Amino acid sequence: MGDSAGDSIHDYINYLQGIGVGYIWVKRKREELLDGIAGEIRACSRCELYHSRKNPVPGHGNPYCKLMLIGEAPGEKEDEQGLPFVGPSGMRLNLWLERIGLKRKDVFITNIVKCRPPHNRNPKPEEMKKCMEYLERQIRIIRPCLIVTLGKIAASVLLGVESVVRMRGNLFHYEGIKVIPTYHPSYVLRNPKREQEVFEDLDVIKEILEECDGSNG
Ligand code: SF4
Repeated sequence: MGDSAGDSIHDYINYLQGIGVGYIWVKRKREELLDGIAGEIRACSRCELYHSRKNPVPGHGNPYCKLMLIGEAPGEKEDEQGLPFVGPSGMRLNLWLERIGLKRKDVFITNIVKCRPPHNRNPKPEEMKKCMEYLERQIRIIRPCLIVTLGKIAASVLLGVESVVRMRGNLFHYEGIKVIPTYHPSYVLRNPKREQEVFEDLDVIKEILEECDGSNG
């Protein structure tokens, strides 16, 4: 088979992934598929966040995880390092994971938008709309047993939930995957009294993860 035929097949595989069926028809490793998306994100200029970012933050972690965590957007430290949840919020998140017997290597963490909004403002609706396709594809590839949304924006975009205070800890579904909303670690760092509620949500999360049959791996 010549190079041009190989290129055509590669283009076709990318086309299938682009329309969301690649993972069904083509047996490629999840790592490879996620790396492909990360490469697209690093080259992305779809929205205005492209101008101010230092490094895009595609997401990081275990492609075969049972638990996927989704926040709203990278912050300053994340923008500097190109990795999600590496600042104070990330340290608090690590403690929450430890509480349910998990480490960062066990989960996949990403955000609704992959580039830092200037001065940590909320992402604009048009930015989230343009970036969402990357997250949708990441979720389809990983198919975790459970997604936990961190904070109001992730819950609102994925679930249409407007109040995390009222809906946290409740079970929702996104494309057939279980989802639990809870607070964002940065919110808890500013409002430490809320952490007890996160601990209650973690009990529910642990219970759901214990019931997972591992079929996502
Ligand atoms: S936030 Fe998303 S859509 Fe906007 S430039 Fe970054 S990767 Fe592209």
